[in-house]
Parts: sequence; structure tokens; C-alpha cells
Amino acid sequence: MDCISVNEIIRATQGKLLKGDYEDLVLDICIDSRKAKNGEVYIALIGERFDGHDFILDAYEKGVKTFIIDSNHTLTLDEEGINIIQVSDTSKALMDIAKYYREKFSIHYVGVTGSTGKTTTKDMIHSVLSSKYNTLKNEGNLNNQVGLPLTIFKLSKEHEAAVLEMGMSSFGEIKSLADIVHHKVAVISNIGYSHIENLGSKDGILKAKLEIASNFTKENTLIINGDDKYLKKIKDVNYKVKTFGFESENDIYCTRYDMDENGTNFEVSLYDKQYEFFVPSRGKHNIYNAMASILVALELDLSIEEIRNGLLNYKSSKMRLDIVKKGNITIINDAYNASPDSMKAALEILGEYKENRKIAVLGDMLEMGEYAIEGHRLVGTFAKGKCDIIITVGKDSRHIGVKAIEDGLGSENVFHFDTNEEAIDLIKNIIREKDVVLVKGSRGMRMEKIAQVLL
Ligand code: ATP
Ligand code: MG
Repeated sequence: MDCISVNEIIRATQGKLLKGDYEDLVLDICIDSRKAKNGEVYIALIGERFDGHDFILDAYEKGVKTFIIDSNHTLTLDEEGINIIQVSDTSKALMDIAKYYREKFSIHYVGVTGSTGKTTTKDMIHSVLSSKYNTLKNEGNLNNQVGLPLTIFKLSKEHEAAVLEMGMSSFGEIKSLADIVHHKVAVISNIGYSHIENLGSKDGILKAKLEIASNFTKENTLIINGDDKYLKKIKDVNYKVKTFGFESENDIYCTRYDMDENGTNFEVSLYDKQYEFFVPSRGKHNIYNAMASILVALELDLSIEEIRNGLLNYKSSKMRLDIVKKGNITIINDAYNASPDSMKAALEILGEYKENRKIAVLGDMLEMGEYAIEGHRLVGTFAKGKCDIIITVGKDSRHIGVKAIEDGLGSENVFHFDTNEEAIDLIKNIIREKDVVLVKGSRGMRMEKIAQVLL
């Protein structure tokens, strides 16, 4: 981060300087006292489990001299050089400072949201844009009202572009992130079931995701998956819309693809011209993600050659469809998270191993509210044709197996357990040479424990 003054913080947050010097400078923003360093400003955020105000002295002992606290708290530190800024809401202050800081950098901004595939799409866009621009992205999954501001503070003079994943669990959150970033281009990967509990329906999810375009005018472009039933509803808007998919009505559509151990070769039709690309990852869903990144890159003036090279450099993040060979056994580790859409995407890849026995080890998909049973049954239907053995772990995942049996999979090939440990015991007993094992479930299910045993 480039340093900013106490005065700038006051202006950005409309806070009150209770004590200190407007001219003092801070070198960076800190929200975690354990990582606090001399010269930073410590913002006392109030989270679900912790109140950052309880850790102010800890930050002070690490050398912090500037503090942002809320109006329900007091702070007395008599030492010279201390700055105490009071705001009404410290979480909002973090976002206000990010918005202020962002305005110092007129570079290419891209926002990415969607139910599944945000991080993957963001990482792919980053690889592609990096072949022309020095590009910033959120590390890992830092996509919320805390993670996105912290990413913004990493902007510096060298950056020429930034691609920012925006997540949400309820209405208004993406809007608040879009207000910080004011991106020129945005991507919505798809509309699925994640967070349906809070948003009521898939139409509710569409509405919440569309907040990413809430500041858009005719200068802006929204890039969407044109095969998505819900995204297709976006019509008659006052900004440009470009679509990607497999259906030929899309601006860019995939006409042919083949996958091998190293990745996916695919051909697209782009405004009546054909182009070939390669992306070093597998799965049809990654062709969608790659096509989104191609459209973003074209909006930001990259040549086809630059895009091609950028895609070649893409590396997938940890636990997201990591395909590893251990001896003769292939493990598809996709333990990072799960929704019905990403379960389908992963099962699709498993199904491509035609010669091998295929085992799907699937944990609960969480946060599905009243859609829990429907969502798990949907996966059951899909799993039936894609694997030979289904092992489910948790509670709701039982319905995957039940539906697969109803659809014709022999019940002797379906197992359900309450815990990962029990599933591990079974897997150890039945696994044999050449098996391909997919491991996937929601974050809270800790399915990586099963993957680790296999590895
Ligand atoms: P989160 O909500 O946790 O931030 P995300 O939207 O960032 O998730 P990713 O982390 O990119 O999504 O991917 C989650 C899972 O979805 C992975 O298992 C990945 O294999 C799968 N996936 C990635 N892209 C797509 C896509 N376009 N459609 C369906 N599934 C996808
Ligand atoms: Mg993510």
C-alpha cells in the first residue's frame, strides 16, 4: 500500500479525530492484531466471534500508533504520537477507506461474481490479463466485505489492472463491493443454489448477483454465461452484455474440445471466426471459465495471441479439482467446496475415465436451506451415470445415494456414513489398482481429510 495520512482517513470515513495529528502518515491497514506492525493503522472490526476492540492493546504493543474505533468504545493512550479516530461503524470505515484508496488508481478493473467458479474464473482472468498488464487479484478467496478492501490496499503504482472476486451471502453485499471497485467490466459465471437459504429463490440469487452491474452505464460491459437459464433473463439493460457458452447464440461459443492429462484443447467461434486455445485444467466448466476470460481480455484490448499465452500460464488453486496420481490410483481432490453445480462439474470429469472403476466420495452440500433435499437428489441423478460406487458422508448427502439407487444404481454400490473416519475405513477396504476417486463436499465437511489419507 502507498501511505496515506490520518487526514485522508478522516475524510474517507467521515470520522472524528479524538486525539492525534492530521498530518501523520500510516503505511498500511491492519485488522488482525497478531499481524500488526509499526506504522500501520489498526481498525477494530467487530466480527461474529471476536470484537477487535479487545485486541487494541495487543496491536499497540506491536508498535501500532493509529487506531480506528467505533463510537461505543473509548480508548485512553497518553503517549505522544498516538492517533485515535472514531467512526460510527468500523466495518464501514474499512470499506470507505478502500473506496477512497481505489480512486487513486485509474487502471482496468474487472469484477467477478456468480454462484460457482468465481475464484477459478478470477484466477483465469488474472493469468490472461497478466500477459499484457501487471494485474492484481484477490489472494485465494478473499472476496467479501473484509477481503476485498484488504485486496484493494495492495494496489500500487505498478498495477495496470485488477481482477476482483466478489462474494455474498445476502442482498446488498455485492452492491457495497461494486461501489468500492467501480469496475468497467464484470463477469457473472452462473446462477446456482449457493446461499439460496438467505435469498429465497434462484431469481433472488440472480437479483443479488446483478448488483455487480448496479453502477453500469453504456460504457460498461457485463459478461455472462449465456447458456444459464437465469442469466438469459438479462435483457433491455442500459449497458453492454456479452455472452459465452456452448449454445451458438452466444457471442463466443465452444464448437469442439478434447481433454487429456494436461488439460483441455478447445475451439471457439467468436463473431464468425474460429480460434483454438488450450487451458491447463480439465472439465467442461473450465471451458466456460476460459471463455469468460477471453471476453474480458478482448474488452481490455488484448490480442488473441496474448490471450492464448495467458491461458497457457493458468494454474489452478489448491483443492480445486487437483488431479493427482498415487501409484496406480487417481485422486480428483475437489474438497474445497461444493454446490449442486460444482458437484455436477466434478462428476462430469470423473465420468470421463471410461476404462477405470470410479468412486465418488461426496460430503454434504451445506447452506441449502429448504432446497437441501432437492439439491442432493439432483446430484444423485447426475452421479448415477458417472460413477460405479457412491460413498456419502454427513447428513443430507444420504439423498444423493437414495436418488442414485432410485435411478438404477445397485444398492450394493452405495454407502452412507456419518463421519469421515468411517468413510476412510471403508475406502481403505475396497480401493484397488487403477481406481479413480473423486473427493468433494462443502468446506465445513473437511473432505480434504479423506483426500489426505488417499494421498
Ligand atoms: P466460493 O463461493 O467458495 O468463493 P467460487 O465461486 O469461488 O466458490 P471456485 O472456488 O472457483 O468457486 O470453484 C468451486 C468449485 O466449483 C470447484 O470445485 C470447481 O471445480 C467448480 N467450478 C469451477 N468453475 C465452475 C463453473 N463454471 N461451473 C460449475 N462448477 C465450477
Ligand atoms: Mg471463491
